[in-house]
Amino acid sequence: MGLVVQKYGGSSVADAEGIKRVAKRIVDAKKNGHQVVVVVSAMGDTTDELTDLAEQVSPIPAGRELDMLLTSGERISMALLAMAIKSLGHEAQSFTGSQAGVITDSVHNKARIIDVTPGRIRTALDEGNIAIVAGFQGVSQDKKDITTLGRGGSDTTAVALAAALDAEVCEIYTDVDGVFTADPRVVPKAQKIDWISIEDMLELAASGSKVLLHRCVEYARRYNIPIHVRSSFSGLRGTWVSNEPQGDQQVEHAIISGVAHDVSEAKITVVGVPDKPGEAAAIFRSIANAEINIDMVVQNVSAASTGLTDISFTLPKTEGRKAIDALERAKGTIGFDSLRYDDQIGKISLVGAGMKTNPGVTAGFFEALSDAGVNIELISTSEIRISVVTRADDVNEAVRAVHTAFGLDTETDEAVVYGGTGR
Ligand code: ADP
Ligand code: ASP
Ligand code: MG
Repeated sequence: MGLVVQKYGGSSVADAEGIKRVAKRIVDAKKNGHQVVVVVSAMGDTTDELTDLAEQVSPIPAGRELDMLLTSGERISMALLAMAIKSLGHEAQSFTGSQAGVITDSVHNKARIIDVTPGRIRTALDEGNIAIVAGFQGVSQDKKDITTLGRGGSDTTAVALAAALDAEVCEIYTDVDGVFTADPRVVPKAQKIDWISIEDMLELAASGSKVLLHRCVEYARRYNIPIHVRSSFSGLRGTWVSNEPQGDQQVEHAIISGVAHDVSEAKITVVGVPDKPGEAAAIFRSIANAEINIDMVVQNVSAASTGLTDISFTLPKTEGRKAIDALERAKGTIGFDSLRYDDQIGKISLVGAGMKTNPGVTAGFFEALSDAGVNIELISTSEIRISVVTRADDVNEAVRAVHTAFGLDTETDEAVVYGGTGR
């Protein structure tokens, strides 16, 4: 039996009962003969609560201090989990990200892992311990400051450790039975997927299916780590995410893998931009210099009479203030009239490798939205994805309409959501 990495999300360890339940599962894996490394998230909505608290003392908290604060959430759960395992008669030791050798760059609040040196974890395992690692955090290589990997980052910690320790699988335990054809909180008729390709999972994750973080799937692809997403509340087999299906993993030859939605983005429109070479470059350079990632971009046709155009783009709401400030500062050199900020938008994406070879998917998507009375504001596509931006209020209905239109609704059991607040 090999080494397994198990990651438990916040909803799985929301209270003392949850921690004890998870401890039993971990001990069972150890009893089955595995070496077990556990990555744990902060309890319940702790990270959100700590973020709210920080904003009450400072409107824009300093990145270094925010990271120091947020990492405390995972330290609470790792210590409690190690205690719970010990009280079941098994040896466990907890480690911060820094102790576990998670080395990152120094971009606070969204650091990238650049190396993993899990010497202490190996030693702990060799001495017969279950190793518990605080997710979502690391230490910066140059300044040795504590960093966080961005919201949902424990998924990335888990896959990065699985790669560094050459684990046979990375199990992601959460509050639903696996990856579904849509978020079960929005579409009760969503179906659990038995196996999904890394390629499709990457697009779903990038489009907002927060059941797995995009960076974690990228990592799994690079190091060829199979992921098993499953519930910590049920004994059911979940969803396998890998390059190729293994054994009895069933492959649905569906054209569409799923529908994702995302209400975490905002839209900025730069109004009255002179329609000449270099303008878009200057706008996006000032955004990039502020270390902000953007998503969709559209440029309107310029009005011939004025020679001015509008450029809109979407970005995480959490970066909205920073982006507006960066553009305002560059206004003199770029030259535009004004900025519009809209955080009441949502994005709906249809994902599936089958759309490459099946005509009519785009038409069917737009028809479903139109039948549901949903207005489209922006469109973007990749080879295996179509995304639209709509009003945030329309998102849930739009997701259900598209899910039904593409024949994804289950005829049998409705999806179960075991815990969590969906925050
Ligand atoms: P954890 O606390 O375990 O990290 P998250 O809240 O980050 O859990 O992710 C699990 C949630 O992801 C589910 O409760 C569900 O609402 C949401 N979700 C979004 N899209 C999907 C999908 N396609 N399949 C399953 N869950 C999804
Ligand atoms: N606790 C962090 C968050 O809520 C990291 C994680 O749960 O993955 O974003
Ligand atoms: Mg998560």
